[in-house]
Amino acid sequence: MERATIDYGIDLGTTNSAIAFADGVEAKVIPNREGASFTPSAVWLDRKNRMHVGRLAKERAESNPEECATEFKLRMGDGDRAARTLRYTEQPVTPQTLSSEVLKQLREDVRQNTGDEINAAVITVPAAFELPQCEATRMAGELAGLSVTPLLQEPVAAALAYGFQEESDNLLWLIYDFGGGTFDAAIIQVREGRIEVINHAGDNNLGGKLIDWDIVNKRLAPQLTASYRLSDFNRGNPRWRTAFAKLKQEAEKAKIEISRTEQPYDLWIENVCKDESGNTVELEITLGSADLEAIVKPYATRSVNLCKEALTESSLAPRDLNRVVAVGGTSLLPWLRHSVEQELGMQVDFSFDPITIVARGAAIFAGGQRLEQKSRAKTTPGVFQIELEYDSQGADTEPPIGGRVETPDATALTGFSLQFVDVRTMWQSGKIKLGSNGVFITNLHADRGRRCEYEIELFDPKGRRLKCEPERIAYTNGLVVEEVPLIHSLGVAMANNEMDVFLRKGTPLPARHRSVHQTVSDVCGGQQSTLINIPIVEGESARRADRNRRIGVLSISGKDIRRDVPSGSEIEITLNIDPSRNVTSSAYIPVIDQEFEQPLKLEKTVSSVAQLREELEIQRRRLEEVQETARDLADSKVQEMLKRIECEAMVSQIEDLLAAASQDEESLSPCENRMLDLMAAIDSAEDAVEWPAMVKKAGMVLDEAESLVNRYGNLETQQRLDRCKTEIRVATHANDADMLSRRINDLLAIGFGILEHRPEWWVNCLQSLEEDLGKMRDANLANQLFIQGRRAMENDNIEALKAAVSQLIRLLPIDEREKVRGWGGSTVRAS
Ligand code: ADP
Ligand code: MG
Repeated sequence: MERATIDYGIDLGTTNSAIAFADGVEAKVIPNREGASFTPSAVWLDRKNRMHVGRLAKERAESNPEECATEFKLRMGDGDRAARTLRYTEQPVTPQTLSSEVLKQLREDVRQNTGDEINAAVITVPAAFELPQCEATRMAGELAGLSVTPLLQEPVAAALAYGFQEESDNLLWLIYDFGGGTFDAAIIQVREGRIEVINHAGDNNLGGKLIDWDIVNKRLAPQLTASYRLSDFNRGNPRWRTAFAKLKQEAEKAKIEISRTEQPYDLWIENVCKDESGNTVELEITLGSADLEAIVKPYATRSVNLCKEALTESSLAPRDLNRVVAVGGTSLLPWLRHSVEQELGMQVDFSFDPITIVARGAAIFAGGQRLEQKSRAKTTPGVFQIELEYDSQGADTEPPIGGRVETPDATALTGFSLQFVDVRTMWQSGKIKLGSNGVFITNLHADRGRRCEYEIELFDPKGRRLKCEPERIAYTNGLVVEEVPLIHSLGVAMANNEMDVFLRKGTPLPARHRSVHQTVSDVCGGQQSTLINIPIVEGESARRADRNRRIGVLSISGKDIRRDVPSGSEIEITLNIDPSRNVTSSAYIPVIDQEFEQPLKLEKTVSSVAQLREELEIQRRRLEEVQETARDLADSKVQEMLKRIECEAMVSQIEDLLAAASQDEESLSPCENRMLDLMAAIDSAEDAVEWPAMVKKAGMVLDEAESLVNRYGNLETQQRLDRCKTEIRVATHANDADMLSRRINDLLAIGFGILEHRPEWWVNCLQSLEEDLGKMRDANLANQLFIQGRRAMENDNIEALKAAVSQLIRLLPIDEREKVRGWGGSTVRAS
């Protein structure tokens, strides 16, 4: 019989993947060929060009890393740049092709186990996955012959496995998912039968493998270099690649053993490599529980901080949570569990195996996803077709169902009736009369806790049973997954390095937004060398666009433009995102009446090692400066921010990743993400130390405004000044930076309101603008304006002087320094 619902759910993990099958309200994990419940996401291409997926490939990666690929999920969405040449491939293989090999293997395991040839499955993605990564996941499904692949967020899947049959309402759960490559903290809400991610924080590059590498770098490698002659023995050196792969796998084994037993573990590797003198290198070392605990510590801290961040952002406290669910193999580490329990004050729930729970939840979700019936194509003669409208999964115990019966031979359907019968309890809907056009509507009755199947009985006016298609339908009562809203805010990076947020995080999809910008430089029609660059970014930092991830760019080349577009021209930018999260962008330039549209090629940009190294130096200096200022301040908030940078070992993690990245491209993207985190952390600290500076500025501006008002003011300005003064006192007292900065602007406006009427001020302006002549856009025009200005001065014509000065100011470019920062955007929001 043709499958009516998708029923299969896949956890396509960084380290391990699993597939499960919906069996009523539960899910069954389908074992692989070897009987294991999960399959390592590793691919090996042998010399005869055969692909191997799973344990064999993971082990092969130890001895022959150049023939194998692992952890490719981390580079999903990086495009062709992330393609790797394996030893026996001619063409480089992309992460999505590698992922598709894993999916093919899972499909094959299903075929061997159940005989099902599936072409649809729900695939899970981390909540923190960005648009290009989702797109790549869908493509991997397609390559593997899965033409229908609804994506489901991993934390929702995990929550469904726990709570699909949950009867209480208004619940908040924290899904703590610590896998091999990614970490996700998601807050899940269950309300009125609906389940939804209300917030999440995550890191695509925080996972168990970092712990494995730490064991190698901090314990195993140092012991070897102390006892053998091994020059330049590091992970980045191609010469030692095999040795390091071996060490890492052994480190992982040791980690899992210590994690399980909390006892010391004796590690013995007979043949690591050969040293300079040709001696076989052996490693014998005992790792204690305390060793591992120390290594785990910064990662535990970071994960707990992310949980707290997600909670605080939603104005929640740990005590608001009803449950903390452990997901992912790394969550089994006892010290992680202790940190979470201690910091959140709540037991962590381990009732399901954290490694396969996501696949289970995906299957349960898949059980409620209806497949498009292809029945039209193979209509059987003499059989009545029924077009049905219903949800196959929902919170309703009396779900509505409606539809239309079509006759095979154009008979009128007056007097016909239809009945649903629960095949297990024999509950009957009673005979429902069809309208003459075959239409009907009724309600089913569904028991909780099982998948109900109903037989459809069709009768003619004489009560004779007729053949119909479909013959059966199913409905399961359980929680419903809310449509996934926009996961990160989406917008445009502007020339001043601010982000114009088009669509906020949480916006339901599909969504569309248009914003009017203006260009900041001239673009010459027909000339390839000039461009309007509209970088599309994803992230939450509106004040600094370059702290967000750039996911694509809408680039308008001069050669595609009919006529010149002078600086300051309007440009209407539209972003559009559909429910499958495909983004399209378009721009319309009114002065030339031309529209530009580009499907975004979603691809993350990654910097080079040299760029990152330079960036790290800059950040290190910034950090030192903030630390210096903070020392004199004794401000506890700033201290706490700085401590967080230290406790999470951000700088040293970036250093490690940089060292690795110099040979191994795979570390580049994690390194860049960690850099963005570090920058954002320093930003916050800088902002915090900015406060005292701002208070000082407020005092100075106030003094100046007061002296102007005393000299030239009137009653009105006096009153405005007094109000400002009071509010500045309040803002300073309440530590309210926004309010203080608004009042500073008010004071400046009061001052300007007075100066505006003073001729001597305009004279000053004109003189100081003369120094900026070199920077002005149009030197001829500028010179002309200066002549006009000076003439106006001589004639005491203040209006003419004002006009000249105002026009001159407009000739100044947007701050040059601002322009080179950021993602290279070439527009700003129109004023
Ligand atoms: P992913 O979601 O990245 O595919 P998994 O949830 O399968 O990852 O977790 C894999 C990670 O869990 C690996 O880093 C592995 O070393 C680690 N792991 C597995 N079992 C344990 C354990 N008992 N204790 C600690 N870590 C474990
Ligand atoms: Mg996982």
